[in-house]
Amino acid sequence: MRAVVLREPGRPVGVEEVELDPPRAHEVLVHVAAAGVCHSDVRLADGELGEGRWPMVLGHEGAGVVEAVGDGVTHVAPGDHVALSFVPPCGACRSCRAGRANLCEPAGRNGFAGTLMDGTSRLHSDGETLQHGLMTACFAERTVVAAAGAVKIPRELPLRQAALLGCSVVTGFGAVRNVATVAAGDSVCVVGCGGVGLQVVAAARLAGAASIVAVDRGADKLVLARERGATNLVDASHGDAAAAVRELTEGGADHAFEVVGRPDTVRLAWDAVRPGGQVVVVGLVPRGVDVAVPGIEFLSDKSLRGTYYGSGDAGRDLPELAELALAGKLDLEGVVSHTTDLDGVEEALGRLRRGEGARTVVVVDPAL
Ligand SMILES: [Zn+2]
Ligand SMILES: [Zn+2]
Repeated sequence: MRAVVLREPGRPVGVEEVELDPPRAHEVLVHVAAAGVCHSDVRLADGELGEGRWPMVLGHEGAGVVEAVGDGVTHVAPGDHVALSFVPPCGACRSCRAGRANLCEPAGRNGFAGTLMDGTSRLHSDGETLQHGLMTACFAERTVVAAAGAVKIPRELPLRQAALLGCSVVTGFGAVRNVATVAAGDSVCVVGCGGVGLQVVAAARLAGAASIVAVDRGADKLVLARERGATNLVDASHGDAAAAVRELTEGGADHAFEVVGRPDTVRLAWDAVRPGGQVVVVGLVPRGVDVAVPGIEFLSDKSLRGTYYGSGDAGRDLPELAELALAGKLDLEGVVSHTTDLDGVEEALGRLRRGEGARTVVVVDPAL
């Protein structure tokens, strides 16, 4: 089958013919319909998430149709539509038992190692083993994923839209619903309005936030943020953006979401919240990079916290998000700025590196 392979960081990714083994017990073979291109793919392709991660088949948010299931799989059957999740909880580790499925220990370990839950790979090329990118590897015609990584969704939702659920949407919505618990009337600031940031804006609107201040350097992204419910726009390319946010929110927002992953934007978010407010860092800060805030301000009850994968449970959250989309409460089409095919992934990564556009959707099989 054809798949997008990262041979080594810094080199363009390319489409190659690779072999995919059948699913083993507790695994699912999915015919991929579409996949989203995410900034984490750039981080992986640029080698910013650690060594030893290649060769790898990239792609970690996608959707498709179940083609076969391994022994012990009962929650999906061939023909079911599924959204993929790169955090398939094992259900047994300490984190899973504590109800924190997104922190599942074996899922995290294997996701980093590029293996499935039994520690091995189903992907090969001329005898060489390839890694499953974040246990999903969906920039490919087919993929084998851990059972819990294939989440059944309603057939009515177009797969090209469902492709976005498993990373950008669940991450953005989870940050608002599971982490910050934004309430009606709250003020919210969103720093960074790319694929995930736009979902944070949409989720904050759905939660009833009274003001949603979108901050970005890209005028095109601010326009998209307004369309998704931002009430105020701050162009961070000039002036003091944090001061502008404080001005717009009577002294600071109740919640700020950092969706870039850089020390200066974390600081911006910190400076934009009021005493007692909270900053949620959603952005992926590269390995080895420190973040600093003025420590004296902890005296003002401000807090700074992280989140991974929306801090929820994909098996519960993805179907809920699919229902919201079907009910017209979550616009999945509106965040897609480009569509392409597997050959267009490198170009899509380039756009993300340059900060151009929002989501690119890779249509892997136009027939689905
Ligand atoms: Zn992602
Ligand atoms: Zn677990």
